[in-house]
Amino acid sequence: MQIIIPKQVEWILAELREHGYEAFAVGGCIRDALLHREPGDWDITTSARPDQVKQVFGKTIDTGLQHGTVTVMREHVGYEITTYRIDGEYEDGRHPKEVAFTSDLKEDLRRRDFTINAMAYNRETGIVDIFGGIPDLEKRIVRCVGDPMERFTEDALRILRAIRFSAQLGFEIEDNTYRALSVIAPNLAHVSKERIQVELTKTLLSEHPERIYLVDETGMSPYVSDTFGAVFEGTGKERGISACTRASRLPARKALRWAAFLAYAGEVNTVRILKELKMDNDTINRAETLVKWFAQELSQEEAKLRAVMSSMEDDLFDDLLLLREFLLPEERAVTETFRETAEIIRGRGDCIRMKDMAVSGKDLIAAGVKPGPEMGGILSSLFAHVLKHPEDNEKGYLLHMAGTLR
Ligand code: ATP
Ligand code: MG
Repeated sequence: MQIIIPKQVEWILAELREHGYEAFAVGGCIRDALLHREPGDWDITTSARPDQVKQVFGKTIDTGLQHGTVTVMREHVGYEITTYRIDGEYEDGRHPKEVAFTSDLKEDLRRRDFTINAMAYNRETGIVDIFGGIPDLEKRIVRCVGDPMERFTEDALRILRAIRFSAQLGFEIEDNTYRALSVIAPNLAHVSKERIQVELTKTLLSEHPERIYLVDETGMSPYVSDTFGAVFEGTGKERGISACTRASRLPARKALRWAAFLAYAGEVNTVRILKELKMDNDTINRAETLVKWFAQELSQEEAKLRAVMSSMEDDLFDDLLLLREFLLPEERAVTETFRETAEIIRGRGDCIRMKDMAVSGKDLIAAGVKPGPEMGGILSSLFAHVLKHPEDNEKGYLLHMAGTLR
């Protein structure tokens, strides 16, 4: 099997080799290269200790010295170089108490989570595949390196990684590995909500977002968040899964995919789950808006549609239409008319933002209105009027109207 390595990576491997060290590209990048997928990043593993790596390259960044990782920059791209290591005993189901360096590549590969992630490559040696990563890639399965119970007990995040890789690659989870997921599920209690969220987000952004149902099927839901399981309950389950299946055709945007997953959970639960998972505020707000307006009938009336459009950014409104289009296929024709009407509204330049009104707070002050609640009230009334009658968005007219409102 042939692997094509970027020339910067070749250069790093060659530098280390010329200084007498072993060095390989390793992990996810080898998996992806073999699958003809674009690797996210190229990680390098070496027999050189961190101080020796620093000597070879001169300029490096200390990324995680305690784990043996330094970063070398080449043409604005960072490459992580990590010394072969054995992870010591795990103290809390998440963090190894200590790591020990080793001179044996095999030991370094053994500590990795899945066979497909435990391969290394360099030009001289070819692919190093001690744990059967290539046959598992061919069988399209996610399988632990070694005993799944042991490996998941060491680090419970791996149970979510198993689901995530299954979703990203469209692979099944090997039987023994799958069975251990349910047994170790309670250990997720030791994993930070943020790490859980990151894996779930990667699952939802993948080509098979519907595989998030594995989280519930294996009993992980209660450890994800209090109400996560409710998303899968009763008819919600079918709707949730079919929503996710349809979601796989939605653009892979974070709030949009989360909204598709939570569409039937309701606005309140959406916010609750995302907050509990320490999602960033911007994504929470966007997902909340999408779920809220997904649950409501939209009106065909231009004025009402302008009001909805005015309550969110343009790109979010477009995502709302996408969400409706994919999750409510029976309403596709109606959704299409919303899209056409929105195009007309935008094309005409109708005012749908307060900042685009022909009259501003400054103009009102100049006309003698005092800044404060009164002015706020007038601006809101003018804006409500303009949303209904965009043709009235004209300075003279609105100032006159402001006068009648005082
Ligand atoms: P991607 O970068 O596409 O998310 P990846 O496979 O590169 O996927 P990373 O999280 O970047 O995953 O980790 C790089 C490699 O480090 C993995 O391929 C795996 O060999 C190892 N690894 C990462 N996290 C763990 C873990 N929790 N337990 C064991 N090995 C891990
Ligand atoms: Mg990676």
